[in-house]
Amino acid sequence: MSHPLPPDAAKPANFLRTLIEREVNEGVYAQRPWGGSPGDAAHHAAGGPDPAPVRLRFPPEPNGYLHIGHAKSICLNFGLARDFGGVCHLRFDDTNPEKEEQEYVDAIVEMVHWLGWSWQANGTEHLYYASHYFDFMYRAAEVLVGRGLAYVDEQSAEAMRANRGDFTTPGTNSPWRDRSVEENLARFREMRDGQHADGSMVLRAKIDMASPNINLRDPALYRIKRAHHHNTGDRWCIYPMYAYAHPIEDALENITHSICTLEFEDQRPWYDWLLARLVEGGLLNAPAPKQHEFGRLNLTYVITSKRKLKALVDEGHVNGWDDPRMPTLAGMRRRGYTPEAVRKFAEDTGASKTNIWVDYAVLDGALRADLEGKAARAMAVIAPIPLKLINWDTLYGAGHIEPCSAPAHPQHPALGQRQFGLGPAVWIERDDFAELPTKGFFRLFPGNKVRLKYGMVVECTGCEKDADGRITAVLANVVPDTKSGTPGADAVKVKGTITWVGVHDGIAATLNLYDRLFSEPQPDAGGRDFREALNPASKTVVQGFVEPSLAAVPPDQRFQFERHGYFVTDRIDHAPGAPVFNRITGLKDGWAK
Ligand code: ATP
Ligand code: MG
Repeated sequence: MSHPLPPDAAKPANFLRTLIEREVNEGVYAQRPWGGSPGDAAHHAAGGPDPAPVRLRFPPEPNGYLHIGHAKSICLNFGLARDFGGVCHLRFDDTNPEKEEQEYVDAIVEMVHWLGWSWQANGTEHLYYASHYFDFMYRAAEVLVGRGLAYVDEQSAEAMRANRGDFTTPGTNSPWRDRSVEENLARFREMRDGQHADGSMVLRAKIDMASPNINLRDPALYRIKRAHHHNTGDRWCIYPMYAYAHPIEDALENITHSICTLEFEDQRPWYDWLLARLVEGGLLNAPAPKQHEFGRLNLTYVITSKRKLKALVDEGHVNGWDDPRMPTLAGMRRRGYTPEAVRKFAEDTGASKTNIWVDYAVLDGALRADLEGKAARAMAVIAPIPLKLINWDTLYGAGHIEPCSAPAHPQHPALGQRQFGLGPAVWIERDDFAELPTKGFFRLFPGNKVRLKYGMVVECTGCEKDADGRITAVLANVVPDTKSGTPGADAVKVKGTITWVGVHDGIAATLNLYDRLFSEPQPDAGGRDFREALNPASKTVVQGFVEPSLAAVPPDQRFQFERHGYFVTDRIDHAPGAPVFNRITGLKDGWAK
């Protein structure tokens, strides 16, 4: 099977891996035929044995952008398929026409690829749409009606709700529950043919209104909804309910392990009931897929609900789904996250039978661990003030520029050296100077010496101020014969080293300094309005300077700005001549409580 990612060396054990391993060894799914594409039992029977020992799927509804919670599910499903030599399908669960859009379909495809996964195996693209199965779903519904296992219910929505009962009260049978097969079939066809108003009736399974599991109290299978579908247009005015559609999608695709989150646990008896009826009717391949639930991933300081993320976008709290503050994969990519870090995070957080809260520091740590070895180093000044070297011209001659260099990456000498120049004026950080130093401040203050990193030692003499007393420049003398890398450079001892960018060769850049989007660890806990937990300082835009080696870097390049943290050139706004850098994260954990 062709997956682009090599299996990771150590595969953490989890209950799903253990289960799949056992079932593969026992050959539970070994006998199933595969017709080369999704289909009913007859279609598969015409094919050979399924070359995939396991089939899993990632089934997003295209009603929003993928977020970090989805990444967890993606890596789990694609990772298990890879590790067992199987296939993972990407399937759009597009049975709800009102909220689904092509824009979301495209974005989902792009982000699953970005994460490094492929649905290509044995020369086949396993990219599917639930809406392609509408014909089969309709046919299966007629079969259920024909076998007396489904009926058209004309109760009002309120009556239906009231008659469903609750955890302590059994439901009440609908007055329409016992109509004849012929009558049900005729009515269902009328529903399909557009002869009834939206919401006027539904097709329901006929199981048990007194079942202790409310999901088995005659669940709805089809509703009438005149809505344009992104794939099927106006062909249908009835649409299958999610609970009916999903098991069928799995079965048509020969899925072996249908992994979902815990809130679907109560649906499992229904999932099994439905597929058993369709297998025994000869419509679907056997053995049917099985549903397995794992705990949802929740991340502190983050919300993972498409509905709420959509509200953030629609209400303008962020600049679109790919705003670098968003926990969407599109936002995280733009922020500078690497797919490797996201995959590592997904792997490290395992799979368990309980919903988990993971500290954001875990994700941030995976990111920094990945960036540390990869990101080229550079110097940048974020809050610039000029430092004037007052004896420069006397020592070196007016206009002299002293060439300096530094390794592109301290651990990768092969990446070579960056070149920049030291001249009579450089940009330094405003807070690297203090007129009156506090205890322990070792940077620039009158009388103190510091090293300009990769440059020379300078001794501060004071500062210049404007009429309002604001400091406009820092003044210093160069200490001769202290250039980094030259003999005797270390003879003058200093306690502080500061970063800088030459005024003559520094590149002006826009720097987006991002911070957490929410200031509360559980922004939407306990039904609270997540908008109230928004961090008003989640984005600060400053104008700074970066060293000349960054003059022509393309978008999406990651750097470590020495002392400041990791930055990436914005994939949308960055342009040669108008550089824009996003702060990815700091050098140290800023998330630990
Ligand atoms: P949302 O509530 O954000 O809309 P969803 O579960 O409805 O999420 P789907 O598009 O239906 O979104 O999800 C596709 C898959 O991703 C499902 O199998 C779902 O269980 C899984 N998934 C979504 N969120 C998480 C999460 N936080 N942790 C683990 N898996 C998740
Ligand atoms: Mg959903």
